[in-house]
Amino acid sequence: MFRIGCHISASGGYLAMGKRIDALGGNTFAFFTRNPRGGAAKEIDQADVDAFAAFCKEKDIDRIVAHAPYTLNPCAEKEYVRQFALTTFADDLRRMEYTPGQYYNFHPGSHVGQGLEVGIEKIADVLNQVLFPEMTTTVLLETMAGKGSEVGGRFDQLRAIMDRVTLSDKLGVCLDTCHVWDAGYDVVNDLDGVLTAFDKAVGLDRLKAVHLNNSKNPLGSPKDRHAKLTEGLLPLEAIGRIVTHPVLEKLPFILETPNDEAGYAAEIALVRQLHG
Ligand code: FE
Ligand code: FE
Ligand code: ZN
Repeated sequence: MFRIGCHISASGGYLAMGKRIDALGGNTFAFFTRNPRGGAAKEIDQADVDAFAAFCKEKDIDRIVAHAPYTLNPCAEKEYVRQFALTTFADDLRRMEYTPGQYYNFHPGSHVGQGLEVGIEKIADVLNQVLFPEMTTTVLLETMAGKGSEVGGRFDQLRAIMDRVTLSDKLGVCLDTCHVWDAGYDVVNDLDGVLTAFDKAVGLDRLKAVHLNNSKNPLGSPKDRHAKLTEGLLPLEAIGRIVTHPVLEKLPFILETPNDEAGYAAEIALVRQLHG
């Protein structure tokens, strides 16, 4: 089953999200687990989750790729920022169990001058504190553009984090096409080479989802500015090769392009057309 969807608003709860993505023509989706600035999330209503589950079954919507707030930085230097990451992460993972077997994607973090090695250790430490044996959620580390002091711009950095996590079978990776391009991985001219590099560093069995975005910037300029599928520096043919690649086409594709709902509906239709 080919899965394409987009990032949607979480307002109104789970059933509202299911209806929202269905109306856009998608069958997978992402949402922020809480206000990107963090703060308390509304308690989950079991009846809403049940109605959502029934709706998803009926409409064949599968794979929630929930997104942690951007402000969550597991390798922050300031201890209160890391503490926020820890409590938010733990609470989100508890909440994710209302929808068993889904994905929770997060940005590994920015080491803000402490150095890559310290960053990697601190991220792994947070994961070791929040993952628990009974969880059914898979936590996805997102491939980053490598902007500033971001950790995760190189595949081997993701591997280094995973290697330090005890319950590493709970971990996977979400590949963001804008980010990897910005980080210098040429998904336009050498998609197979990029996937081979990923396989060597991390293992393709760990690849669980794709953020399908175009980029406003050239290869290797770590800016992290998403573009609409038809407007960035990745030609549409390259997007087509990504969504039809035998390894990738089995994964849920999530658009995080600068669009309103009508724009997303059009891009979802476009991707379906590219996939054929
Ligand atoms: Fe992200
Ligand atoms: Fe992304
Ligand atoms: Zn981004």
